Amino acid sequence: MRSSEIRALFAVVSRPEVVSLAGGMPNIKDLPLDSLAESARTLISRHGAQAMQYGSGQGWEDLRQRITEVMTYDGINADPDDVVVTTGSQQALDLVSEIFLEKGDVVLAEAPSYVGALGTFRAYEGEVAHVEMDEDGLIPEALEEMIRRLRAQGRRIKFLYTIPNFHNPAGVTLSEERRPVIVEICRREHILIVEDNPYGLLGFDSDPLPALQSYNPEGVVYLGSFSKMFAPGFRIGWALAPHAIRNKLVLASESAILSPSMVGQMAIEQYLSDYDWYGQVKVYRQMYRERCNAMMAALEDFLPDLQWTTPKGGFYTWVTLPEGLDAKAMLPRAVTGLVAYVSGTAFYADGRGGDHVRLSFCYPPPEEIREGVLRLSRVINAERELVEMFGTNDRAELPDDAVSAPAPDQV
Ligand code: PMP
Repeated sequence: MRSSEIRALFAVVSRPEVVSLAGGMPNIKDLPLDSLAESARTLISRHGAQAMQYGSGQGWEDLRQRITEVMTYDGINADPDDVVVTTGSQQALDLVSEIFLEKGDVVLAEAPSYVGALGTFRAYEGEVAHVEMDEDGLIPEALEEMIRRLRAQGRRIKFLYTIPNFHNPAGVTLSEERRPVIVEICRREHILIVEDNPYGLLGFDSDPLPALQSYNPEGVVYLGSFSKMFAPGFRIGWALAPHAIRNKLVLASESAILSPSMVGQMAIEQYLSDYDWYGQVKVYRQMYRERCNAMMAALEDFLPDLQWTTPKGGFYTWVTLPEGLDAKAMLPRAVTGLVAYVSGTAFYADGRGGDHVRLSFCYPPPEEIREGVLRLSRVINAERELVEMFGTNDRAELPDDAVSAPAPDQV
């Protein structure tokens, strides 16, 4: 196990003078906290004996029923019996890895992919093979080619891990045309799909495209979460899995945690039944759309010659740095310039990504996002001068007097 690049950043970027375009924390300021507090009080006083007790390892049936209703927005028609409630979708990723991965097994994942999933696959000694993507998501031909190449080497592929909607970190969405094609390739090649969909309901203009699960329920483990469509605090997510896998997930979860938090599950069930939760999703969509627009406008204004992805939802855009710049080497100077991002290297298992940064627009308000991108543009322009003069912006390779910025461990 290794500490993630994002975690290492936390202490520095949480200083108030730094505009953080780094973290992926949902912005929950619009939640009706007073009435949620009142609901929590009622929940404990009326149903405390159940809420404060252990529950079923698979998760509370009433909540599993509600979860199947939430999934109808993804075109999924599920039986509550196939749902396993987890402690966030992060636990579901851990359980899937525990069940399937043995040392040296291969997980196919997008290039780039979610840092938290890569860490989990590594913890179970799986090896990630990255498959190229473009503005329309995972490229089917690249997937086929990678499967062919790995099989020719005698490698054992356990599953494809994919984030089809509003990808973290790439910000792109798998097109409707490609969805059945990707599912068909995996069906033909007998490769399970792990479909991770925490951002699906946060499309700026629409409900999500049909889930991969809806094309082949027997070939997909679908992961959902309340962290982004509601709030991460209760730590409730879920997995929807074919029957045989569902049984294993329950056993693995019981041995890890006995049962998911009962009070968390009951609070979420109550939120889904008593609140206009879909109205809240619309409030979030509007807020994130404004923030995304602020980021896109600032990139146009301050870094017009760079390339970045244009998200249709979610939290992130993926920016390609100018030729020769290294995102990791630049980070200390960005933090000195009071702006933070995540280096693209966090999102690859194979050392790539130094030519990219992930910018998130979920947390700071629009004016701060604009200020953050302005600061970033100053840092990038200064780095460009270094590259022009010395051919690199990696301070380890620069002459001693070339830069005055502090070393990475000083910020
Ligand atoms: N998958 C992806 C793609 C994510 O971005 C995140 C959170 N950043 C998770 C899973 C985990 O979320 P949670 O455990 O809060 O459901």
